Amino acid sequence: MSGEGKEPQAIRRLAPGRLVIASHNQGKVREIAALLEGHGLDVISAGELDLPEPEETGTTFVMNAELKARAAADLSGLPALADDSGLCVDALGGDPGIFSARWGGENKDFGRAMRLVEDKLAALPDAPRTAHFVCALALAWPDGHVEWFEGRVDGTLVWPPRGDKGHGYDPVFRPDGHDATFGEMDEPAKNAISHRGDAFRQLVAAVF
Ligand code: IMP
Repeated sequence: MSGEGKEPQAIRRLAPGRLVIASHNQGKVREIAALLEGHGLDVISAGELDLPEPEETGTTFVMNAELKARAAADLSGLPALADDSGLCVDALGGDPGIFSARWGGENKDFGRAMRLVEDKLAALPDAPRTAHFVCALALAWPDGHVEWFEGRVDGTLVWPPRGDKGHGYDPVFRPDGHDATFGEMDEPAKNAISHRGDAFRQLVAAVF
């Protein structure tokens, strides 16, 4: 019978103990630690361990998450979790995508990045304003094993930006089925529907 003997590999469980969050951004590390609370993990960041930040040379969110997680697991000898996320605008062929942070420039000016997206959209008459956020997670072990999870939320871009509660592109993103933009939502309301919440719910259901 076709497929016989090719059972999908079981997802590896994450045992209680030390876990490296492969990020040098303390805000992100705190947010991730909170999402993983209650599972017996002793979370430490790549920054605290003084691990070098690898260059994000991947061409997809998953590849970039994986290269960050692998680098941290290899160097620390501990399991490591990394994320990579961004905004994909349909009419712009998925841009800014994996370059979402870079569109903010050296000063991480997301007012400028949102304006850049809007200007490019305005230059395309009748272009749909649909977009989605993606969050890829990679969990790597020192023996080379990796598990991946990808979350997504679909929505529409609004202009002008609305709300000051979020970060990045939140003020221009109105998730499907809602009137408020992410910039107008409290964190718990956003997490309940966001790409990041989606990815973490998948991870928690799979590895604990
Ligand atoms: P990363 O830290 O390399 O994953 O960069 C992600 C970039 O994508 C951020 O700097 C933001 O610009 C954008 N981004 C990712 N997730 C969100 C979100 O939930 N809201 C707004 N912007 C986001």
